[in-house]
Amino acid sequence: MQLTQRQLRELIQRPSSFLRRHHISLRLCTEPLRSTTRQVFGSWDPLLREIGLYQVPDRSAEQVVNTLLHETFHALTGVRDEDVVDTLAGEALQLLSEHEIHTCAAHLRQLTPPSSPRTDISRAQHQDSTISIGAFA
Ligand SMILES: [Zn+2]
Repeated sequence: MQLTQRQLRELIQRPSSFLRRHHISLRLCTEPLRSTTRQVFGSWDPLLREIGLYQVPDRSAEQVVNTLLHETFHALTGVRDEDVVDTLAGEALQLLSEHEIHTCAAHLRQLTPPSSPRTDISRAQHQDSTISIGAFA
């Protein structure tokens, strides 16, 4: 399932309200989500219906938007296969201009509360490591 152009534009321009309409909340954090073995930049928790984006201020605009797309595809499609989700996110990213990507990332950075570590790592059901987001990690 790919997003329509209109859905993609809505997600990029107003991520929180787009996701809220799909009953998904968005948690934005300054810090990476660390486990003992890896560093996590995105998560989707199907029980809480929460997408988490981590280390938002420190990553490039393209990385942040790619992770937002990646987690949104997990959330909307229920697909857990990383390759499938990476492909969908990559295709969606290709449809966006540099300007749209930078505007979206700037908006997400602005929404990120200062000093917002996340320590309750065990609650996030699905965590995407540097490895699973491939080229943009
Ligand atoms: Zn994933």
